Amino acid sequence: MKFSDFNLKDTIQAAVTEAGFTEPSPVQKDAIPLVLEGHDMVAQAQTGTGKTAAFGLPIMSMMKADGSVEGLVIVPTRELAMQVSDELFRFGKLSGLKTATVYGGTPYGKQIERIKQASIVVATPGRLQDLLMSGKIKINPQFVVLDEADEMLDMGFLDEIKNIFTFLPKERQTLLFSATMPNAIRKLAEQILKNPKTVSITKSEKTNTKITQLYYVVQERERDDALVRLIDYKNPEKCIIFCRMKKEVDRLVAHMTAQGFKVSGLHGDMEQKQREVTIRAFKQGGIDIFIATDVAARGLDVNDVTHVFNYHIPFDSESYVHRIGRTGRGGKSGEAITLVSPNELRTIKRIEKDVGAKMITQVIPTRMEVQNNRSDELIAKIAETKVTDKAIELVKTLQHDLDIVTIAHLLASMIQSENSVKGKDNIGLGLDEIALLMERAMQQRGNGGGGRNRRRGGGGGGYRGNRSGGGGGGSRHGRNGRSGGGDRNGRSGGGRDSRNGGQGSRS
Ligand code: ADP
Ligand code: MG
Repeated sequence: MKFSDFNLKDTIQAAVTEAGFTEPSPVQKDAIPLVLEGHDMVAQAQTGTGKTAAFGLPIMSMMKADGSVEGLVIVPTRELAMQVSDELFRFGKLSGLKTATVYGGTPYGKQIERIKQASIVVATPGRLQDLLMSGKIKINPQFVVLDEADEMLDMGFLDEIKNIFTFLPKERQTLLFSATMPNAIRKLAEQILKNPKTVSITKSEKTNTKITQLYYVVQERERDDALVRLIDYKNPEKCIIFCRMKKEVDRLVAHMTAQGFKVSGLHGDMEQKQREVTIRAFKQGGIDIFIATDVAARGLDVNDVTHVFNYHIPFDSESYVHRIGRTGRGGKSGEAITLVSPNELRTIKRIEKDVGAKMITQVIPTRMEVQNNRSDELIAKIAETKVTDKAIELVKTLQHDLDIVTIAHLLASMIQSENSVKGKDNIGLGLDEIALLMERAMQQRGNGGGGRNRRRGGGGGGYRGNRSGGGGGGSRHGRNGRSGGGDRNGRSGGGRDSRNGGQGSRS
């Protein structure tokens, strides 16, 4: 199926083509024809499935562009308002459809001016209610969309929404989009929609199949090391690490920064300005890693997030689906990686069942495996690199004193030391160990624990023994060649950083 099958207005179709969309997503396939036929609609689909275009394209295709506000889109947060507005602007610009973005925390004047010129208003509930109740704006939108309705309810906007609808024309087409369908949403839908059609992207399609879902079983105290190891191994371009608490975000930001990663935290207490600056830096690549709470990451739409890490497993399946939906957007593939302790195995099994997706358990890679992975990547990268004039000059200079093979060895060692891998030798449990633990957990239900640590053996090593302290290798400074200053001393303690113990030695 192609977008042209929908018979959208020419200028809208042209914008779709320009945006590079070829195939409509499942929710778009179902929703667009229904909206074009004029039906009210309730649509359930998880994040990243293309809901904005699913409502935006058909309503814009039906708009007259007569200078009045024809469409109103209500969204939970300021960030979402801006994102949706940008996306709609992209689709509407060839049709002369302007958008106005309306949210709290900024002066009224400019927003009101924009609304007067706009065909579509994208608004958060609080500010919109203010504007309507104070009579500062009067609008008669024929199309009204509630986007991410479940999040708006979670954020306590139900009263505002009901109130807003008292200011809207009775003759209208209303569309409600939500990732989940709790009862409160169904009730709201009954009140504001007329004979709605339902679109539901069924369970098997609910999680984006382009997202590979992995989980790793680790001991509680190994979480930090496992996370660092996995990030080293996966070497994500951009990733989000989810935590349950703000406190954990702060701690992990400090930990990861000390390890030389370019990270930034995102949590609810941050000032709006600071949030925006941080999000922009992440989008533009100045920050590789975001560490966030669920609340802070609501509706965050950043393209090219290659990996989502769950530092802790979320409490419920819905959060899980929301979280992992931050990757695999716009038809790209992504990986979702969850760390679980043996105690959390049952939780992940439950979520796996709820979500109806296959989760694959894997063993934390050894440092050697990470190193090999890195070497392969390096070789590929070197093969792709173009020779610059500066490099030719540099080699010429070096050749005064050294032969070409030595120069190559030195340069390769330098690059490798910057790419080398840190951390402990053995983290995580093997598959057989996981099986044993699960079996034991089952046995223990009822007979009051005991003997949990028996396998560890006395003192020292235990079954996972062999945990060397030294041999950390070089520092991560200059990771991917992007970071500026070094932090060779950032990781103190225990000789883990001893350069001569590892791969980085320059002999
Ligand atoms: P949702 O609202 O369901 O979370 P969005 O509407 O924000 O999803 O879309 C997620 C991303 O996918 C956006 O960057 C959007 O431009 C892109 N996208 C949407 N539909 C398509 C499509 N049919 N083909 C390619 N990319 C798409
Ligand atoms: Mg959306």
